[in-house]
Amino acid sequence: MDDTAPANSTSSASTATPTGAPAPEHAEVVIIGAGVMGAAIAYQLADRGVEDIVLVERDSPGSGSTSKAAGGVRTQFSDEVNIALATRSLEVLRNFEADFGIDIDLVSNGYLFLLDSAEAAETFAANVALQQSMGLDSRMLDVDEIKELAPFVNTEGLVAGAFNPGDGHCTPEAVVSGYVTAARNKGVRVLKNCEVTGIESSGGASRTVTSVITTKGTIECSQIVCAAGAWSGLIGEMAGVDLPVRPLRREIMVSEPVDEETLGIDLSRMPFTIDFSTSFYVHPEGPGLLFGCPDETDVWEFDDKRSPDWLPTLAELIESRAPGLGDVEVKRGWAGLYEMTPDHNALIGQAAELDGFFYACGFSGHGFLMGPAVGEVVADLMTGRTPFVDVTPLDKRRFSTTGLRKELNIV
Ligand SMILES: Cc1cc2nc3c(=O)[nH]c(=O)nc-3n(C[C@H](O)[C@H](O)[C@H](O)COP(=O)(O)OP(=O)(O)OC[C@H]3O[C@@H](n4cnc5c(N)ncnc54)[C@H](O)[C@@H]3O)c2cc1C
Repeated sequence: MDDTAPANSTSSASTATPTGAPAPEHAEVVIIGAGVMGAAIAYQLADRGVEDIVLVERDSPGSGSTSKAAGGVRTQFSDEVNIALATRSLEVLRNFEADFGIDIDLVSNGYLFLLDSAEAAETFAANVALQQSMGLDSRMLDVDEIKELAPFVNTEGLVAGAFNPGDGHCTPEAVVSGYVTAARNKGVRVLKNCEVTGIESSGGASRTVTSVITTKGTIECSQIVCAAGAWSGLIGEMAGVDLPVRPLRREIMVSEPVDEETLGIDLSRMPFTIDFSTSFYVHPEGPGLLFGCPDETDVWEFDDKRSPDWLPTLAELIESRAPGLGDVEVKRGWAGLYEMTPDHNALIGQAAELDGFFYACGFSGHGFLMGPAVGEVVADLMTGRTPFVDVTPLDKRRFSTTGLRKELNIV
């Protein structure tokens, strides 16, 4: 792998420039953060007839973790709430172009997990059975089937695979753009370059949201949604609401266009392939390939600068699991932030300690694929409807009541 080519970070500046119109003095709902969550929630609320919605974004829509995602959309989870959210999202994404008029480059070549231990195979077999019971086509593969499906994989040490043919990947920014445009068309005001710096509430022991302070002025409101991704813990602090979300840096590299014949691959069939034990992954990205993996140097801070140590780590993982793909040239790369919770499951609900404060955050590195469904669910909760799936298990109160609810299929 040629790692000498400069790959510019697409890192977003977080400094808010107070340009454009001032914030309105009043709104019914203020949504903080215009990533996939905030954008989908804004659209779904407006679609349910809620008026006077303001979507506040420190930078520009989609510029947070959503634009840094690998775009993977999979239904293979171990937690049934996650399977339901992912399945519904995929349904929305399949129809996105027809419904929102924007091409999201959806590729449905499936998602293949490579498993190198009997223990992992056993766990995945149970997860696959759960997914099948929920109507999905996931299945376990033996090593010969892996070779057939992904001939570029070095199968040494592998014991099984788990595959869902309907999973795939698409372009996150396009999804945000579709939601933001549709939300605007339904009257949502989108404030860009506008940072939330404080949250005000009234009352003593039982507090109620009264306003959101931004760099463009204070907005009086009765409902707030925290959809601030990796920064949600900071929004929680402003509101006196504990949101245990921590940032974790992850990197991605996209190659120059590849010669399929030389590499022995067929981009039109190549699944999103993940080596489960190392979390190394690769998927086709237009005429090239997109690679990702964790690194020991990944830091639990708001640091989304690229690390000079990462490309060598990636090169080692390619060499061991997909050696034929080592001969690609780096086109670009970036780092972004996962938004981790203690059990790698999202936080979705309404804060008991602050009336009117809703949250949808902490998706722990698999939030893009859940955005469309979470938009529906949160809008339902806020308008007193019953969501298509019961998300009370994702309420943040679980940490002090039922305990951790671990999602195992994490990358
Ligand atoms: C390298 C990488 C690869 C990934 N790959 C995948 C994948 O393949 N599939 C998948 O499903 N997920 C993936 N993810 C995870 C996914 O990107 C996130 O889970 C998802 O984008 C979260 O969306 P969000 O809307 O909650 O957060 P974000 O997109 O981060 O949006 C939050 C927004 O809030 C804004 N904000 C923060 N603080 C303030 C403030 N004070 N005032 C105003 N605005 C504020 C930010 O600017 C940001 O735009 C990946 C993440 C990374 C980093």
